[in-house]
Amino acid sequence: VLHLFGVSLVMFMNCQENMEASRQAEISAIEEKHKMILLKRQFINQTLYDPLTGCPNRTALQQNLQTLMESRSKDSITLVLVYLDRFKEINNTLGHQSGDELLKRVAFRISGFVRQMRGVAPLIEEEGGKFHPIAALDGVVFATILTDLSEAEVQETAEKIHKSLSYPFEFQKMTLDISGYVGISRYPDHAQHFSELLQRAYVAVELAQQRDEQILNYTSELDPYSARRLTLVSELKHALKMQTLELYYQPQVDLQKKTVVGVEALIRWNHPRHGFIPPDEFIPVAEKTGVIRQLTNWIIDQSCRQASEFYNMGMSLRMSVNLSAKNLQEADLSNQVLSSIHKYRLPADLLCFEITETAMMMDPSKALRTLTDLSEYGITFSIDDFGTGYSSLSYLKRLPVSEIKIDRSFIMDMSIDADDRVIVNTTLQMSHNLGLMVVAEGIEDHETLTSLKEMGCDLAQGYFICRPIARNKLLDWFDESNYSILTSPMVTSPTKFSNLG
Ligand code: C2E
Ligand code: CA
Ligand code: CA
Repeated sequence: VLHLFGVSLVMFMNCQENMEASRQAEISAIEEKHKMILLKRQFINQTLYDPLTGCPNRTALQQNLQTLMESRSKDSITLVLVYLDRFKEINNTLGHQSGDELLKRVAFRISGFVRQMRGVAPLIEEEGGKFHPIAALDGVVFATILTDLSEAEVQETAEKIHKSLSYPFEFQKMTLDISGYVGISRYPDHAQHFSELLQRAYVAVELAQQRDEQILNYTSELDPYSARRLTLVSELKHALKMQTLELYYQPQVDLQKKTVVGVEALIRWNHPRHGFIPPDEFIPVAEKTGVIRQLTNWIIDQSCRQASEFYNMGMSLRMSVNLSAKNLQEADLSNQVLSSIHKYRLPADLLCFEITETAMMMDPSKALRTLTDLSEYGITFSIDDFGTGYSSLSYLKRLPVSEIKIDRSFIMDMSIDADDRVIVNTTLQMSHNLGLMVVAEGIEDHETLTSLKEMGCDLAQGYFICRPIARNKLLDWFDESNYSILTSPMVTSPTKFSNLG
């Protein structure tokens, strides 16, 4: 009997091992497919040419500039943008097809001119020694990189480029004048990174056009955006002090059960002079200047207060709060959070923090410590913007994370882009295999909502369900919407939430 028992135990264990092995193989196959699609997408994005003009595109410009910035950190590198300001008019008069034809001719001419100038960095070299000297950006903007030139020489070169446009084009039996503006920005004086350098050059052409100057060199004194940024920090501090910032809330619903499970808190700043300033503009400034700490403390406190109010009104709603990378590095974040939870007597499992993969990667060990600390109290974590960073799900598995949010860029194009649908589907399967919940955000239409539901997605958020709204409007939405709300043990089934506040 013992022998038989031993044999069946071995058979049972073998069987278990086989099942585990085939499950692993299944997960690896899905992961492989997912990786291939992301790679394909990257490849397409990184193709280096502009399809219309055949010039190198923005990616090619970026790659060249970044390589140059890394290899010559001390020498100055100049970015010159040429903006063709009459193309809108030309397109409207001759039609887009003719406009495109003409644009090709203009690109060809500028290319030919620029190629002969000294100091021009080749963007893409082709066989036979020919090289592309200009990149085509946004249709009517061309860019070139100059190195090893003095400021006077740069000015001279810019004048020549501008002059190349002053000869009229013979096109479809017409003589057309194409005018343009030139904007110049310089590394390292004006910017440290590619995106900043490009943005500054754009500011310069925009200013050139406004002031009707043919060529304009960027300076921070002229830059209306940098002036706004400078004042933004002190104004943000002031707004914090005066309590003029506000939190809006966007519902998250359970697709299968048709219930509201919680809301995401999103900061809103209505500036007395500038009007609504999107968080994407001031959060990065707050991060750079350290104000983010004070700002996040306020957001945590307010959202806990609000979550606790909902709870006391009889609703069991999870409050999701965004943390930025800098917050995860702060030593006393955990204490701040715990003190707000205690102050408002909020059950800790009703608080969830959304963090991005990139934020986790800034200082993984410090971030992990914060996550572990807080999760011990029952606070949960969700990985925001999933799919845009680099980490794999297998890495996330090692973190105390219970949920991922698929980035809205994948969700928004799902109904027209088959690759996005596959990414969403494989992400769902992989996450479920790892025991993670999945939220889809950015749902803007019924079709997307239905297919996500069919794919087995757990939670959903998006304009189609409800936009981010203020507390009072949210209570109205609770009453009107078709989604039911889980009740908290505090109050027995209230009928109208909006009457309670
Ligand atoms: P996020 O965390 O990815 O927030 C979701 C963003 O998507 C929100 O933009 C929301 O209004 C928007 N959204 C929701 N549904 C849809 C939809 O169906 N279609 C489209 N197109 N958009 C949708 P918002 O409020 O402008 O926030 C932008 C970003 O600013 C947030 O991205 C987050 O990174 C940051 N942010 C917002 N509030 C806070 C905050 O309190 N703290 C921190 N650290 N960051 C915040
Ligand atoms: Ca978020
Ligand atoms: Ca997001």
